[in-house]
Amino acid sequence: MSEKPILSVRNLKTYFDVTKGLFSKKQIVKAVDDVSFDVMPNETFGLVGESGCGKTTLGRTIVKLYDPVEGSIEFLGKDIANLKGAELKAYRKDMQMIFQDPYASLNPRMTVGEIIKEPMIIHNIYNTDQEREERVVELLRIVGLKPDHIRRYPAEFSGGQRQRIGIARALAVNPKFIVCDEPISALDVSIQAQVINLLENIQKEMGLSYLFIAHDLSMVKHISDKIGVMYLGHMVEMGKSEDVYHRPLHPYTTALLSAIPIPDPDTAKAKSRIILEGEIPSPINPPAGCPFSTRCPKATERCRQEMPQPIEVGGRIVACHLYER
Ligand code: SF4
Repeated sequence: MSEKPILSVRNLKTYFDVTKGLFSKKQIVKAVDDVSFDVMPNETFGLVGESGCGKTTLGRTIVKLYDPVEGSIEFLGKDIANLKGAELKAYRKDMQMIFQDPYASLNPRMTVGEIIKEPMIIHNIYNTDQEREERVVELLRIVGLKPDHIRRYPAEFSGGQRQRIGIARALAVNPKFIVCDEPISALDVSIQAQVINLLENIQKEMGLSYLFIAHDLSMVKHISDKIGVMYLGHMVEMGKSEDVYHRPLHPYTTALLSAIPIPDPDTAKAKSRIILEGEIPSPINPPAGCPFSTRCPKATERCRQEMPQPIEVGGRIVACHLYER
């Protein structure tokens, strides 16, 4: 019997009404527009795209911080749309999130021990404070911090250490899935690889699945089994990490990859760089036809009129008229 996805997202749409005055024209931001993908158990799905492409909104919709206007999210075979009360609490325990900013996401007035213990108390895990304390010490060890850090405050730690505290807090309730929302973007380059390695080790040890959101394709490639590329609320390409990284199909993925710096100057010289002209269009007023048509070097008249539908090409999904037969 084939394995079933732990997370299955279908035709998901998350829109926000940003109309300013009572008599103004209605303005809707289509932050996530008709997105579908699966994440398998123990798998990491990397989600990339420029700022404003909808990747963080997608992650927040999955953890139920936002409600979608259409589509479905199934977790372990169950639609989470109408979860309430105890069922919603159980979902929040299984589905945790690590935030981008390790400075803003930790309460500065709480000690590290209190921060990590808080979700255990909310979800009634462990009967006594001593059991919780022992688990906090174990979690500190798992994320590479010391037992005596338990009584310290977030301000006493570096950015990388604070992100480790955030990871320990997410692990405190023994989740099955973690949405990692740009967990390394705010960290020094030298620390980024350490946090990625830590997340990989924890995944192996605890059998977790991740949705790993980032704007850096090279970092996503390192940790991900599959990669999805988002542009203006749409998933424009999705496939195995190696395929998307080494043989991109969609012109937007090709442009994102060409922007990655190459350390070897000779290789860098041989590689042609695609400079994307213009800003990402506003999701309030997206272009007609293909959302990438205003910046795509291969756009045709058809692209400016007709939205390409996602199709399967060589084992991956791509939404581009160039690949339609
Ligand atoms: Fe470019 Fe057209 Fe493909 Fe869109 S559909 S990515 S505009 S070639």
